[in-house]
Amino acid sequence: MSDPRKPNAKDFRVAIIGGGMCGLACAVGLARLAGIQAEVFEAAPKFEEVGAGVGLGPNALRALDRLGVLDAVLAQTEDADRTARRMVFVSGLDQHEEVYDYNNSSELTPADTGIGIYRPAFLDAVLLLVDPKTTHFNKRCTSVSSTASGAYCIHFADGTSHEADLVIGADGIKSVLRTAVVSTEKKVLQFTNTVAYRGLVPRETLERDGMKIDMSQRVYCFVGIDKHIIAFPIRSGKIINIVAFATDNSVPAGSVEVTGPWVEPVPQQEVLDKYEGWGPDVMIMLNHLKNPSKWFIHSLTPLQTFIREKIALVGDAAHGMAPHLGSGVGQGFEDVFVLCELLAHPSTNLSNLEDVLKAYDALRVPRANMVLERSHRAGVIYEAYGKPGYESAGDMEGHLAGIWEPIWRHDLDADVASAIAGLQQRGAFSAAD
Ligand SMILES: Cc1cc2nc3c(=O)[nH]c(=O)nc-3n(C[C@H](O)[C@H](O)[C@H](O)COP(=O)(O)OP(=O)(O)OC[C@H]3O[C@@H](n4cnc5c(N)ncnc54)[C@H](O)[C@@H]3O)c2cc1C
Repeated sequence: MSDPRKPNAKDFRVAIIGGGMCGLACAVGLARLAGIQAEVFEAAPKFEEVGAGVGLGPNALRALDRLGVLDAVLAQTEDADRTARRMVFVSGLDQHEEVYDYNNSSELTPADTGIGIYRPAFLDAVLLLVDPKTTHFNKRCTSVSSTASGAYCIHFADGTSHEADLVIGADGIKSVLRTAVVSTEKKVLQFTNTVAYRGLVPRETLERDGMKIDMSQRVYCFVGIDKHIIAFPIRSGKIINIVAFATDNSVPAGSVEVTGPWVEPVPQQEVLDKYEGWGPDVMIMLNHLKNPSKWFIHSLTPLQTFIREKIALVGDAAHGMAPHLGSGVGQGFEDVFVLCELLAHPSTNLSNLEDVLKAYDALRVPRANMVLERSHRAGVIYEAYGKPGYESAGDMEGHLAGIWEPIWRHDLDADVASAIAGLQQRGAFSAAD
């Protein structure tokens, strides 16, 4: 744990709004890389994650490693074994014929591995690294205003406020901080017309009921028309994380407004009805999906910028995306790593913070938006297997091969080095540092 008495190594104060996976990773990264004790403001009464799995690709693990978070996460979970996150695509119907094995996309290298992890275990591990004196609960940010001295006053729903020089918005897809960064006139958040039914099922129960596909190692994607199901093992293969997606393509994306909650419990029968006629292994999985939750999947239209002055967005606040490439939080960890590295640079101080955030923006906007757009495209491909979509496995392969490599095999250190070189060239950083 960082030493609470240690003064900030920098001449600016940092506030992080939102204590989800990205906000907390950011607090740890700032303390470890930059010696900055950021204050974290969380709307909920405690830090909490949904009881579900999350897949972390090789790029996400590299970012977590560099932030000083990965070892703690691996030590806390039963999911320390890295496996290739490469999917096997099988038909959702009939006897689940293999459609495409992503192992055929390119040669597998040791650096291509990731993990599937139980989200609450991730949070428990990261919390051990965060100084509790810097965390504040029941602090729902409502707005941010500028002060006469050039700092920010962060306002909370309970009537209190807090002053900081740099505000990091890690407040998720419904971000309030985003309204301080981009124009509120343009609608940037839309319902994708896709819902996801989620649940966890013990693997041995599935096997006992005759599931033929071996779910102990690989990530499976069951494909069909307007629907697909992702299933992968967590907790050393003991538990299977199941996410069943269904899309209403009868109306254009963005035309439906979800006015109720975006997550709600639903009767299991709703899920069984939705997938009626799908193959035997799918029905075994769904028959065991007790107490499923239904998620209305929203996505941002790509933002032109993640910053304004000394406010920066990270994670879903910046690029909330459809989860079809399992890369949303991985992009958030990349944001956090790049931001922490730039803030940690010896030349970074209050006087050049805006230049530093511009460098962050120049790197992160194109990359995270590329992943956002690919994620959307992947969902369309997964849900086009069969009439009237791609009828042959070869068609699917042609569209899927190579889709992950640019996400997984990216060199973040080279990004940071080029940003620093740019800051030096523009005179924002001294060339000597
Ligand atoms: C079905 C599904 C499956 C997914 N699977 C994967 C996967 O396998 N791999 C992957 O990489 N990604 C996946 N994702 C995406 C991933 O869950 C998100 O990218 C990730 O949770 C974003 O983290 P975050 O910290 O940016 O935001 P969040 O997790 O949303 O955290 C935001 C935090 O801010 C708090 N907050 C909100 N508003 C305020 C406010 N006004 N003031 C103060 N605090 C506030 C919230 O309470 C919360 O604690 C999936 C998403 C879904 C829906």
